[in-house]
Amino acid sequence: MDRAEELKRQVQQEIDAHRGELVELSLGIHGNPELSLEEERSARRLADYLGGKGFAVTRGAYQLPTAFEAVYGGGNPHIGVIAEYDALPGIGHACGHNIIAAAAVGAGLGAKAAVDALGGTVHVIGTPGEEGRGGKIRMADKGAFSNLDAAMMVHPGSHNTSGCNAMAVAILEVEFHGRASHAAGAPEQGVNALEAMILSYNAINSLRQHVVDGSRVHGIITDGGQAANVVPAHSAGTFYIRASEDPYLETFKERVIDCFRSGALATGARLEHRWSEPQYRTMNNNAVIEDLYARNLKERGRVVESYEGKTFGSTDMGNVSFMVPGIHPIIAVSPPGVPIHTEEFQSYAGSEAGHRAVLDGAVAMGWTVVDLLAEPSNLSKAKEAFAATQTP
Ligand SMILES: [Zn+2]
Ligand SMILES: [Zn+2]
Repeated sequence: MDRAEELKRQVQQEIDAHRGELVELSLGIHGNPELSLEEERSARRLADYLGGKGFAVTRGAYQLPTAFEAVYGGGNPHIGVIAEYDALPGIGHACGHNIIAAAAVGAGLGAKAAVDALGGTVHVIGTPGEEGRGGKIRMADKGAFSNLDAAMMVHPGSHNTSGCNAMAVAILEVEFHGRASHAAGAPEQGVNALEAMILSYNAINSLRQHVVDGSRVHGIITDGGQAANVVPAHSAGTFYIRASEDPYLETFKERVIDCFRSGALATGARLEHRWSEPQYRTMNNNAVIEDLYARNLKERGRVVESYEGKTFGSTDMGNVSFMVPGIHPIIAVSPPGVPIHTEEFQSYAGSEAGHRAVLDGAVAMGWTVVDLLAEPSNLSKAKEAFAATQTP
């Protein structure tokens, strides 16, 4: 057995030996869902655990109170394993980020043996606020990820893939300011902010036919007035604008804003808009690390499918993947056809299938760390592939 194979055996043993604790971490987070950037207990739980396993832990890393970084080893190369642990309003861990967190911790634990034998540094990075708040992008602005040679995480879903198709997304907050009046007694004195919103909403629907395939725009109206007998003086909404190519997102954003301008012009209401959160990029899947991960996941006994034609949604890991060679594989916890962000998926994320995904994801990532540390040409090929995707 060569050295890498022997190390992989150790990595697997270490992860399997901690199955109970990893499942406990996953269920602990699953059972106490915390919203984006409010993940105090989850972050503490994970940081405490890694601190107890010999990692040097920084809490509130990169100026985000619920971020952390747990480091083991020293010197080059630096490999990042990324944890997410935020939940969704109303439906808890329906995106299964508890599995991402526990798998990252497991991979970190396993990778210790590789670091002890081969040198290098493993960073388990706790990145809060993935759901809409762009935690990784905020952390990147403060220097996170810049010292990494490679980064990986694993996201639960309904199939096993080595990568994903993620859309670029921008989040828009819009408001219309009109003028209140009696809706029946003096409507001619009113400026109807709700009408402005409805017109804009319908204008967006008229735009849909004419956008590039794979684009998405969707939103909710959060204020449509206070009383039916008063002309609404104020309306508000939140909209997500997504595109499968980064440059097209800029064009699409402008077209959507034009829809809102049309509502303002027709009604006389004043439009206010702002892009509320950091903009998510598409995913720059690193083919070399993907291949290593896919081989490892197969070795662990899973069938790895192609992700061509499968749309994942969006992730702030996309932005990281344009800074450092990285992967965002999907690991199955539910049967095909169960979408994430549903109550059904939420229960899978806390099920026995979820626990198996934690262990398999941890081992596949841990083995990939071995591949990167044991065979330097893997990392140099990953970097070459990454360089080829960067626009000059
Ligand atoms: Zn999600
Ligand atoms: Zn997610």
